[in-house]
Amino acid sequence: MSSLIRPNVQGMRAYSPGKPIDEVRREFGLDRIIKLASNENPWGPSPLGVAAAQDALASANFYPDGAAYELRKALSDHHGVPIEQIVAGDGSDELIQLLGLTLLGSPDDEVVMGDPSFVQYASVAALAPCKLIRAPLDSEARHDLDAMAAACTAKTKIVFIANPNNPTGTVVDRVSFEAFLSRLPESAVLVLDEAYFEFARAYCDDYPSSQDYLSHGRVVGLRTFSKAYGMAGMRVGYGFFPTWLADGVNRVRAPFNVNCMAQAAGAAAISDTAHLKKTIDGTREGLKKLNEIFSRVGAKVAPSFANFVWADLGQPARPIFDALLAKGIIVRPGDVLGNPNALRVSVGTPDELEMFEAALVEVMKAPAIR
Ligand SMILES: *Cc1c(COP(=O)(O)O)cnc(C)c1O
Repeated sequence: MSSLIRPNVQGMRAYSPGKPIDEVRREFGLDRIIKLASNENPWGPSPLGVAAAQDALASANFYPDGAAYELRKALSDHHGVPIEQIVAGDGSDELIQLLGLTLLGSPDDEVVMGDPSFVQYASVAALAPCKLIRAPLDSEARHDLDAMAAACTAKTKIVFIANPNNPTGTVVDRVSFEAFLSRLPESAVLVLDEAYFEFARAYCDDYPSSQDYLSHGRVVGLRTFSKAYGMAGMRVGYGFFPTWLADGVNRVRAPFNVNCMAQAAGAAAISDTAHLKKTIDGTREGLKKLNEIFSRVGAKVAPSFANFVWADLGQPARPIFDALLAKGIIVRPGDVLGNPNALRVSVGTPDELEMFEAALVEVMKAPAIR
């Protein structure tokens, strides 16, 4: 009966997330599992967000505010972006899908993305369905904006730039970004996926924030509470849109796409400066530590401005991934992300990174890993 499914959907694969902790615990009979696989916040969720979500639970008999007014108002005040240009989503993943549903309508439409970059962009094109063009990253694992500009045509409808990029953690700087923007065809919307905005703003001097380019009229910025705010399980993200596109997306989205706990959590967490500072400072230390660990084993790490690193081990990474897993350490193997020699490892607490270091060093000096 699967032949009843749309042909383009038959060709798609379900998203394969990082291995859940409980699954690894069961599989290997281990007590302590460390998950460094999904760029989650190892210091936990924003306490202000959690408290607000708990309060909101008491009103769970009512539908949430379909306009997510309080959340968007808090975001508007915090960022200084007009409220009508902000749309909330069930995670920024939903907003990525909604952009595809809103903007893509013909098999001739083209979507341009980096390679490797965030896998959800490819599924947007597959679902449309339309043509996907992947522009390989440069030798430093950064978006090659010249190549991306050259890949654009009058049929380009969406260009996705994850900034910082996932899985590599690299950023595009302001000067190259502005040069690219000046070459963006009039048919195209440029989506800046800023899932790691809070880290990049703190770690990078010439980071081009989407907010500064909204007046362009075809630039979108996507943000999330999943990473720096530690609320990945809550599912709440948002985007800055040109007004015309916010109107379009609002027609397409489900009426109650963000639940009431998530809305309240986001509205409170956006001003949780203490939790954010702890996260940004701790992540800075963690990045330093991960760089040291990987240089100990002779791996090449891309310069990261997010809460994870992309390390090229110079040998197939799948056996290393498997050996780490057997020790209760979950990372992300690069074969599913675009480079079979790479591992993507999220920043953990100092304690977690010490355990990771001991395990990695042991695993990588083991002779003849098969
Ligand atoms: C984590 C991540 C997202 C998804 O965030 P959600 O808000 O949890 O859906 C989007 N884009 C990139 C590049 C990410 O790494």
